[in-house]
Amino acid sequence: MNPAEPKPLLETMTWPEARRAALANRVVLLPVGAIEQHGPHLPVDVDNRIVTWLCDEAARRRPDLVMSVPPIHYGFNTHNMGFPGTVSVEVEHFVNYVADVCRSFVKQGHKRVILINGHGSNAMPCALVARKIVNEHDDALAAAINHWNLARDLAAKIRETPVGGMAHACEYETSWYLHLAPGQVYMDKAVADVLQKRSEQIWVDLMAGDGPVAFIDDWSRVSNGSGVEGDPATATAEKGRLYAEEEIKNLLSFCAEFQAMTVPPRRNYTARGTDPNPYHDA
Ligand SMILES: [Zn+2]
Repeated sequence: MNPAEPKPLLETMTWPEARRAALANRVVLLPVGAIEQHGPHLPVDVDNRIVTWLCDEAARRRPDLVMSVPPIHYGFNTHNMGFPGTVSVEVEHFVNYVADVCRSFVKQGHKRVILINGHGSNAMPCALVARKIVNEHDDALAAAINHWNLARDLAAKIRETPVGGMAHACEYETSWYLHLAPGQVYMDKAVADVLQKRSEQIWVDLMAGDGPVAFIDDWSRVSNGSGVEGDPATATAEKGRLYAEEEIKNLLSFCAEFQAMTVPPRRNYTARGTDPNPYHDA
């Protein structure tokens, strides 16, 4: 390979190459996943596989713009510990660990970090980590994306599952897996399931937003045992390919904007600061 060509993945770089990646202001894409039950038809690595592929493929297509780094494999997952094959990290540990990983890239000279999250329960802690990084640094920005949000418009056009029930090991996630690794999906074991409805105000839907009440109970209490939330039988590899392409396109477009985003200095308008403000005498 031509040594002048930027490599897509950090793990294959030497340290001089990693330094050049930071000097070139390449946006760091950090995949954040989970090892978690995904029904009787999908392997437990669904979230990791999708986000790692997404980040790696984005970097393969635009190595001048982004760099993919090794993933955070384990997530915040206490609600699924009743199902075999699930691993959970306490939320405080998760936030501190992921923030340390992000800080490392900033210390190495990167100015933009994006957490690409693949697991619903990581969403809030990932957003929190991104905010911590922004709060702590004057010249570095971090953001968090739940990857499914990059395909919301497309989902509204192609989904077959009614709104309110496409949440886990569902039409969407199964389609993704059929696109990436069809040989590992047991479609004959793909069963439709919905969590027991306990209120008109509570539902979870990856693609259409959740209900007004934030309430996640232990899944072993509300699932009828499959671990699925949705209808994986309607999944196809073609839907997965469409989702993958849509998400790559929207991700790269955001990365270009994020890289170019200006970072003005912070101001202190309080009685302790000296920055002028036209409203001081209002
Ligand atoms: Zn998942």
